[in-house]
Amino acid sequence: MSHSGPPGAQQYSDEELAAIVDEAHRAGIRVAAHAHGDDAIRACIRAGVDCIEHGSLASDDTIQMMIDHGTFLVATSYLSEGLDVSKADPEKQAKAAELFPRARETLRKAIERVVKIACGTDAPAIPHGDNAKELWALVDRGMTPMQALQAATITSAALINVDDRGRLEAGLLADIIAVPGDPSKDITVTQDVRFVMEDGEIYKGV
Ligand SMILES: [Zn+2]
Repeated sequence: MSHSGPPGAQQYSDEELAAIVDEAHRAGIRVAAHAHGDDAIRACIRAGVDCIEHGSLASDDTIQMMIDHGTFLVATSYLSEGLDVSKADPEKQAKAAELFPRARETLRKAIERVVKIACGTDAPAIPHGDNAKELWALVDRGMTPMQALQAATITSAALINVDDRGRLEAGLLADIIAVPGDPSKDITVTQDVRFVMEDGEIYKGV
């Protein structure tokens, strides 16, 4: 997202990454890294970063590294369709034009090879509230609707290291939404949330 320079550049040194991960993990905090470039993603995985945000240019070998290290991927793939770069500087528009098609292909491979993919949107690039569009993108890149639902629930809970939500089960937080239709058949119904319950309290619908 820097103004110029190659989209694949690694901007933190290996030593800086190691220090970030070390400090965070000792405090019980997980580390996510905004990383598009292959070298940068590999450096993050080696340093023990828990989650790669974007991961756009990850090579086949790097995807394998993610699997071996159990690194999560939040692909933010809907940026391809949803981010309006028409008013951005020409340098950034050129970067986006290079990056997005390759990012879609990378995600397709990561889905095929079963990387741990959680759901995120790069908000506010895709604003909070439009999260469900990422589910559509995940399905468009090769997930089944059920896999996309799991990415946004079970896998996302695992990513933030909590076991009190992400599944509908007795004893867990009652964080529930309802949509008009069967999201396991048509994922786009998740964009029309009619009912919201958080921790047992109804915030929308009846
Ligand atoms: Zn980012």
